[in-house]
Amino acid sequence: MHSQTISQLAHGLRSGQFSSVELTQHFLERIKRYPELNAYITVTDQPALQTAQLADAKIAAGTAGLLTGIPMAHKDIFCTQGVKTSCASKMLDNFIAPYNATLVDKLDQAGAVMLGKLNMDEFAMGSSNETSFYGAAKNPWDTNKVPGGSSGGSAVAVAAQLAVYATGTDTGGSIRQPAALCGITGLKPTYGRISRYGMIAYASSLDQAGPMARSAEDAAILLQAMAGFDPKDSTSADVPVADYLADINQPLQGLTIGLPKEFFAESLNAEMAGVLATAIAEYQKLGATIKDVSMPNLKLAIPAYYVIASAECSANLSRFDGVRFGHRCQNAQDLTDLYVRSRGEAFGKEVKRRILMGTYALSAGYYDAYYLKAQKVRRLISEDFSKALTEVDVIMSPVTPSPAFGIGEKLADPIEMYLADIYTIAVNLAGLPALSVPAGFINGLPAGLQIIGNYFQEAKLLNVAHRYQQVTDWHHQQPQKFS
Ligand code: GLN
Repeated sequence: MHSQTISQLAHGLRSGQFSSVELTQHFLERIKRYPELNAYITVTDQPALQTAQLADAKIAAGTAGLLTGIPMAHKDIFCTQGVKTSCASKMLDNFIAPYNATLVDKLDQAGAVMLGKLNMDEFAMGSSNETSFYGAAKNPWDTNKVPGGSSGGSAVAVAAQLAVYATGTDTGGSIRQPAALCGITGLKPTYGRISRYGMIAYASSLDQAGPMARSAEDAAILLQAMAGFDPKDSTSADVPVADYLADINQPLQGLTIGLPKEFFAESLNAEMAGVLATAIAEYQKLGATIKDVSMPNLKLAIPAYYVIASAECSANLSRFDGVRFGHRCQNAQDLTDLYVRSRGEAFGKEVKRRILMGTYALSAGYYDAYYLKAQKVRRLISEDFSKALTEVDVIMSPVTPSPAFGIGEKLADPIEMYLADIYTIAVNLAGLPALSVPAGFINGLPAGLQIIGNYFQEAKLLNVAHRYQQVTDWHHQQPQKFS
């Protein structure tokens, strides 16, 4: 049961092969069987079984949708009413959300059965899940390796089949990078496509939620349920939601794929280059043509991102002050002592590093030199993409420079860690949609292909990914030990 896709499970539920209660129990047992993966921060077994019962009634009454009764889990960055929402930080270890994120409400309405909340990097800052207050989640392909981050728990849960699908967020690569390192499909939609209401903010102009699933078809079903304008989020896009399944099977004859020469430079790891070459050859067989494009400003993406993301996070995280919610230090002497010790005790090292960098970049004497400059670079990068996307339909690249690295391997060197997102970060600066699909293996570890499209062209991306998944079976591979 646990290796089936959403549409297969929906069919199984309707034809009475199993009930949602049985399916939910099955997943809850798997979660208990593999605690070493550390995918979940919270498991909500009793509420899950109750939701499953309601789902079974709906299925029996014929009022169920595709997602009704299917077990899933949320990244612990989404507020879930009455359930601990920690953002993997000691700061929110005691926080029970008083309301649901819009995305959580939307999936609830679609009949999702929430199994629990998933591990992640603290406040979504990281590329390996190692900054989590609850310890790193483990890559099911090799438990000595990181699963990627920040949505590491989400990728592990889907890859090890501890949930049918999961939600994630992507500020600089956090859906696509862990999806690639764990061998699943992850979609970062256009900025504003899915509401950010109730999603704990890291860098507000970059953060975007999206689905993490077994296939592009599952991702399309999920995006359908998650997308849409939300009056509660002033940055949510008032753009009609497409029908993501309608054209998913369109032939790719005549598709033009752009390959940015900056991403395929000599520095690209030879094995990763091999994976990409095989994937691109597959697309040529499907009728696509390849074109080289140049995006000269891509090399500035990492420094610009770390100025902007840190600046925004330093403002966003000022709300955690020990007064209103979250961790509060003992016996504060005065207000300053309360702020300083509450924040000092509850934020981890990486979060503190970002707050320091961001505060510095925003301070009076440095604002123009760093923040304003980074915003200008951001514009140049967006223009590079816009220009390239007038010449080609989609852009393809690796997702990561290498397959999953060892736990602890990059912890001592933050710059090395930041470079893990070198292929994904520019997309967030431009606000474009992109997805990651499994495209091969390097030394037994999954490697991904990134497909980038124009604003609000998620349907096109899903079509391009789905056709590839019709002729390849990388996305069907499962980590032996957890299959
Ligand atoms: N690794 C990047 C960072 O640490 C991106 C994280 C994300 O997308 N949330 O900021």
